[in-house]
Amino acid sequence: MPVTLLAICLGPAAPAGAAAAVLGQLGFGGPDPRWRAYGGRLLVAQVAEAPGEERLQRLLRVPGVRAVHDRTPGRRSAAPARVPIGRTAFGGGALPIVAGPCSVEGEAQVLAIAEAVADAGADALRGGAWKPRSSPYSFGGLGEAGLRLLARARERTGLPVVTEVLDPGDIDEVARHADMLQVGSRNMHNQALLFAAGANPPGRPVLLKRGFAATIEELLLAAEYVELGRLAAGHDGPGVVLCERGLRSFEPSLRYQLDVGAVPVVHATSPLPIVVDPSHAAGHVEFVPALAAAAVAAGADGLLVEVHVDPERAWSDGEQTLAPGPFRELVRQVRAIAALRPGAAAGGAAAGRQP
Ligand code: PEP
Ligand code: MN
Repeated sequence: MPVTLLAICLGPAAPAGAAAAVLGQLGFGGPDPRWRAYGGRLLVAQVAEAPGEERLQRLLRVPGVRAVHDRTPGRRSAAPARVPIGRTAFGGGALPIVAGPCSVEGEAQVLAIAEAVADAGADALRGGAWKPRSSPYSFGGLGEAGLRLLARARERTGLPVVTEVLDPGDIDEVARHADMLQVGSRNMHNQALLFAAGANPPGRPVLLKRGFAATIEELLLAAEYVELGRLAAGHDGPGVVLCERGLRSFEPSLRYQLDVGAVPVVHATSPLPIVVDPSHAAGHVEFVPALAAAAVAAGADGLLVEVHVDPERAWSDGEQTLAPGPFRELVRQVRAIAALRPGAAAGGAAAGRQP
């Protein structure tokens, strides 16, 4: 039986009985698997029927209720979401390119890379201050010092910064320094982190990478945790960008198998923008440009590319990291492909999306 999924947001000064009053209005007498509370600011509920205008107004009149959202898939706005980054946006027909090192290694490194990628036409700087590593003996990032270096690189170049957060305890600090929070592939199932990242105090958007063994539906549900975090914190508007970065397969020649098909599938089923990371998928520099070209031809809303001024000496993922020269060539090539996409000349909201 189809159900309606409601998200009811309470304001910061909601009275103590607000949640109980909302649940009473929805016909719930106590604990029930059909509703769930997220802290004191958000209730979600599955109800049999979409509330009509009168019931909606009654819910909105409960003291402390700030907003009621119908989150039923199919009933949410189908218009492509536009998520701003610096002077451009994911999902508006542009092709933001986020580029930079796998890890922040030091001031000279990150400043030189930021300048090189800015000069080659990147729109934002990436770089990990905290790195998820398979081996606990591998370099784990510079932590807070890395964040400060990224902020300095932004001051120097004007590029907005995208960086990963691994621990809910670091979210506030990351959101203070970065323009966009990345939740990595390995944390796509970490629901507490997803929700908390969405709720980051300044309301920075989140770049959510697909788990390398996750279905597209699981990716979209993970994105919903981020969106609920945003609603709970009172951040309006969509603030999630999905990222396809390859799946684990039986084929060993590339590090992962890029699921280019995820791009049109997400466009057909979700308003969220989807970017592609050809670097982690390829695992080897020589394959990165072809995967980037395929992603853009398929309608990707942006790219995430690893670039280093000296890839051979990179502290992580050097094998898949482009030097500035090949990166410049990649940018030239993908911008030429993007110009051929349906709607590119018109530059409308649907530009770049495949039919
Ligand atoms: C990254 O982009 O820095 C990263 C670790 O990628 P992924 O989570 O896709 O492995
Ligand atoms: Mn990497």
